[in-house]
Amino acid sequence: MSKVIGITGGIGSGKSTVSRILSEKLNAPILDADKIAKEAVNSPEIILKIKKFFGESIFDNPQIINREKLSDIVFSNENKLLELNKIIHPYVIEEIEKKVNELKQDNEYIILDVPLPNESFINLSDKIIVVVANEETRIKRVMTRSNLSEESVKKRIEKQMPVENYIKLADFLIKNNSSMVDLVEKINEICEKI
Ligand code: ATP
Repeated sequence: MSKVIGITGGIGSGKSTVSRILSEKLNAPILDADKIAKEAVNSPEIILKIKKFFGESIFDNPQIINREKLSDIVFSNENKLLELNKIIHPYVIEEIEKKVNELKQDNEYIILDVPLPNESFINLSDKIIVVVANEETRIKRVMTRSNLSEESVKKRIEKQMPVENYIKLADFLIKNNSSMVDLVEKINEICEKI
């Protein structure tokens, strides 16, 4: 029986890093919800829905959405973010469920990397690893990785679920405030118990 290891945590906590390391250790494929959500905007049915709600102005051409314009809109308007999520989330959930079932055919472990845990994520995951880090570290990491300002990163953090709600879901909790060496050690410990 294959096992699904769900990994979640807020922006910049290090969940993708944990997923990558764990994937190598367990020889497991990664399903990345962010990546699937990004691919969603290439799907004709999603493009149509986004155009209907957000209008032509966020399109570079009839089929290509300007992601930056879309992000700017949704991260400064709560209702628009909710609306975008209503369009994208069902697609992402369906894709993940489909892919998990396919991957179960020939993998002992599957890693599911999800920034916003929902019912489907909880049901699919046999074990959940929650990755947390203090806010200052998260902001620094995201700013180094992207060209976002401190204020934009803070805004994105505020939009996410409070950290206590992530922690409630954890079978294993990783506090990722220190070095990569320390992180790998923590992952090794979890691997022994999984
Ligand atoms: P997001 O939700 O934005 O995708 P994430 O939680 O997946 O973020 P990562 O992409 O794994 O976070 O990590 C953010 C950045 O911090 C990356 O550049 C990563 O290399 C770096 N990082 C993560 N953990 C550590 C660590 N323990 N030491 C140093 N750098 C780290």
